Amino acid sequence: MTDVSFTPEFWHAGVDTEVLRHLLLTDDTALVDRLRSAAREVAVARFGRRVFVRGLVEISNVCRNDCFYCGIRRSNTHVERYTLSADQVLAACARGYELGFRTFVLQGGEWGAERDKWIADTVAQIRNRYPDCAITLSLGEHSREAYAAFRQAGADRYLLRHETRNPDHYRSLHPDSLSLDHRLQCLCWLKELGYQVGTGMMVGSPGQTVDHLVEDLLFLRDFQPHMVGIGPFVPHHDTPLAGSPAGSVDLTTRIYAIVRLMLPDALIPSTTALATISPNGRLQGLLAGTNVVMPNLSPTDRRDQYALYDGKANSGAEAAEGIAALKAELDTIGYTIDWSRGDYQSSKL
Ligand code: SAH
Repeated sequence: MTDVSFTPEFWHAGVDTEVLRHLLLTDDTALVDRLRSAAREVAVARFGRRVFVRGLVEISNVCRNDCFYCGIRRSNTHVERYTLSADQVLAACARGYELGFRTFVLQGGEWGAERDKWIADTVAQIRNRYPDCAITLSLGEHSREAYAAFRQAGADRYLLRHETRNPDHYRSLHPDSLSLDHRLQCLCWLKELGYQVGTGMMVGSPGQTVDHLVEDLLFLRDFQPHMVGIGPFVPHHDTPLAGSPAGSVDLTTRIYAIVRLMLPDALIPSTTALATISPNGRLQGLLAGTNVVMPNLSPTDRRDQYALYDGKANSGAEAAEGIAALKAELDTIGYTIDWSRGDYQSSKL
């Protein structure tokens, strides 16, 4: 019998591989309910019944990489490629600002170094126009110098999921040109450069085992990211992993709860992928201790082209213009939107 407790002391000192395996595998639904409510209580004590919002601008679906799971991988010739101009990015931010957003997340496929300057210049323009807003980048792997230039230009935060902490599993999801070591190197550079750093993984990606997820969780505990992005794998029909089953709401929300208990201060989104696989996914995520949602601010005529996986939600409460729908949804669980920048703050003295 594995002993599990939900006190802060236990989660500070007592969590080991066996406890994590047990919580991921158990079919004791009462225990899983306790896990999720303990995590929710930690989030509510720390942040209130409030959810930070981040406006997501998908700046380009052009990508040099060929990740086996991703719909905008280089070798998917069925994608109509687009890249927003700096003016279009600024227009998306302007719309977001008017709606009340104070964090803009620029996400896209990974480009080569020839576009580093464009990224830095665009960040500088946003920084100049919105000194009161946080700028988050999610643009993949770059040189340390490029990350430094983006930071210098005014970027505050960077999201770079490690995807899986197991080297063999990483190799099974990516072409040989990508390596887990380099991904982890990038994460260290980002921390050194003073970014608030987000990392995380997909749940239920093909070949993933419970032991891989335990490795992911122990990595998160050791790396202490400021933000943690986790969502279920969802297949895309034009990728080598088409036809694989999607991850589940049950396992994804167990993992949200575990991460919240391990990292009480972390900013953890209830992700679009979770909202995509289930109509009440977003709320289930919040009820398991997450505290961020990232509505889509991309130009509406581009959203379908940024298809990382099939069925990706981008309207209603997932869309920036759907704030009323999001508010109504949050209202059903007694939560409200927190419009502040919502920077990471450590509660440790
Ligand atoms: N190019 C950037 C941004 C990637 S898109 C980068 O490399 O970080 C953001 C995230 O979407 C990825 O990190 C991945 O975890 C997730 N993603 C991609 N394809 C997916 C799929 N088929 N199902 C679920 N999540 C996916």
